[in-house]
Amino acid sequence: ASSGAKIQDIDPTKLSITKTTTPKSLLPPEELIFGRNFTDHMLSLEWTASQGWLPARITPYQNLSLDPATCVFHYAFECFEGMKAYKDKSGHIRLFRPDKNMARLNKSSARIALPTFDGDALIDLIGKFVKLDERFIPQARGYSLYLRPTMIGTQRTLGVGPPASALLFVIASPVGPYYPTGFKAVSLEATDYAVRAWPGGVGDKKLGANYAPCIVPQMQAASRGFHQNLWLFGEEEYVTEVGTMNLFAAVKNKETGQNELLTAPLDGTILEGVTRDSILGLARERLEPQGWKITERKFTMKELADAADEGRMIEVFGAGTAAVVSPVRKISWRNRMVECGLEEGKEAGAIAQQMKDWIEGIQYGDEDHTWSHKV
Ligand code: PMP
Repeated sequence: ASSGAKIQDIDPTKLSITKTTTPKSLLPPEELIFGRNFTDHMLSLEWTASQGWLPARITPYQNLSLDPATCVFHYAFECFEGMKAYKDKSGHIRLFRPDKNMARLNKSSARIALPTFDGDALIDLIGKFVKLDERFIPQARGYSLYLRPTMIGTQRTLGVGPPASALLFVIASPVGPYYPTGFKAVSLEATDYAVRAWPGGVGDKKLGANYAPCIVPQMQAASRGFHQNLWLFGEEEYVTEVGTMNLFAAVKNKETGQNELLTAPLDGTILEGVTRDSILGLARERLEPQGWKITERKFTMKELADAADEGRMIEVFGAGTAAVVSPVRKISWRNRMVECGLEEGKEAGAIAQQMKDWIEGIQYGDEDHTWSHKV
């Protein structure tokens, strides 16, 4: 007999499943809009400080019922992840580097005094959830099931302190290709009047509280005709991230003439993108032998503008789960336009195209790779 005082981690064997009695009808794939439609079910786990993680439940997708005094509504005890499940040619479902999302969610939750958990156990449960709702994943290139693991503090109190209870849930939204008719290069506006993240802050965590304040600068950029805003940092105007993507720039090095693929370092002000890490890994493995230099370092907007002015700009692209890569045509900065190396009529550079092909090849199981996790 146990004392009952043991704090439990997630135990996937204790999963209970209640299936929906009202299955949804599937939308035609071309009508899918990101994050608008959800599958039949959801995965939920409650946590209490005294017991730890309670048995996981898969239930019909449903509303949450929370007291208005619940701490998430007042002090933003919320963190989340964004990842995808893909269906391969033989109908198997694959997750892409889910261990990375679990590690990041644990880092995010720990930073806001929410509980951590065994990542492998949650991957196991997510696999069961995705399998149950697999009919929602269209079996065509570019389609996937976007997964949104979310953790919230659920203690009913206006007192500011560590939540003594939490809820971890996962919902799933079928999504189509980000670029249904091929790449469309975006134009960016460098934001100099607002900062997304700062040293010692929480910009490297996936907290909901990081996202709401980014919308107004995004709307400002949009009002001037730009697709996204580019976040700069400091008087030096370091290039950090774009919208909700990491940023890569390919330039010819001024001194050595070598081709260099640049991205900002993980100094605490950058989200540790899974796509960013994957691009760096593939670039080191497959581009370095071709003479490329792959560099994580701080670089400034002026460096990019100089490269453009001196004919050394090769290409610029964003990187994230939604689009894999998103080519950049131009960046508005200090009343000028920095052209990012795309020829007239072209929508993507060679590196962006190559990275998308390599990464999708792994995600859809065309290339056998340890990054692809079969469920
Ligand atoms: N930066 C921010 C701010 C983001 O929200 C995201 C999306 N999670 C990314 C970068 C890209 O990260 P990932 O490649 O893991 O999707």
